[in-house]
Amino acid sequence: MKIVKTIVELNQLRDSLFGSIGFVPTMGALHDGHLSLIQESNKSCEHTIVSIFVNPNQFAPNEDFDNYPRTINSDLEKLSSLNIEVIFLPESQELYPESYKNIQFKSDLFHVLEGISRPIFFKGVCEVVARLFNIVKPTHAFFGDKDFQQLRIISEMVRELKYDINIIPCKTIREQNGLAMSSRNEYLTKDERNKAKIVFETLQYGLKLIKSGEKKLGEIYNKLINKLSSEPIITIDYLTIVDYDTLKEFDNRINNRFVIFIAIYIRKTRLIDNIYE
Ligand code: AMP
Repeated sequence: MKIVKTIVELNQLRDSLFGSIGFVPTMGALHDGHLSLIQESNKSCEHTIVSIFVNPNQFAPNEDFDNYPRTINSDLEKLSSLNIEVIFLPESQELYPESYKNIQFKSDLFHVLEGISRPIFFKGVCEVVARLFNIVKPTHAFFGDKDFQQLRIISEMVRELKYDINIIPCKTIREQNGLAMSSRNEYLTKDERNKAKIVFETLQYGLKLIKSGEKKLGEIYNKLINKLSSEPIITIDYLTIVDYDTLKEFDNRINNRFVIFIAIYIRKTRLIDNIYE
């Protein structure tokens, strides 16, 4: 496991690797969700490269960039037991020198769901992922289903910009109580983490309701919002059911494969999750 901070060092190591290269980009504060992506890469690729970079460009000024958990020592310890070729820990100036021109990729998907609450988020994500793809030159890249919209947008970017990279979706890893693992769970107290399980319970309830034949959106939203707001520490940002393929909202009835998305706040901590079948 080699730890490098510069593109020059990474290039040297990259040039010595042949065969399939799996890449797992992260922002650190690693948990079992991140580790599952690395395990998937190890299973299907000959080499695995992991990056840790808290990307300033995807945080709005009112968001938690400064406070985002940075736990590099424990991250490296967790990574040391896995079969990783290179860990890339770039500084901002390394990825974004003044002369660097960002890619010009845009998508309609930037402006739905997360994009409404976080207008600059996906532009920032695509910039950093494209930059990392150009440097790491992976054959495969692994992304979590927890960030379903991000996964969709990156797949679209890869298609449109013609990267020769297989994007591999990986299932959401959860705490025992169902709460999706997230670096931001670190901000929550034990009691809040326990209460946050209502997010996944609401998603499961929605799935069950729709599968049992309820298709009227108004009815479904009422029931799900009632359930989610029965936990007083939760402030709902959005609870939205969309078409699986287009991520567009249905009119009045669910008439196609769907995904239910939830974004909530517990105090200032924002959490997202989704479910589909
Ligand atoms: P982040 O460090 O939050 O940018 O996440 C890095 C990668 O890990 C992204 O592809 C996420 O979708 C993925 N990820 C985050 N949480 C989970 C989870 N609970 N289960 C599976 N993948 C996850």
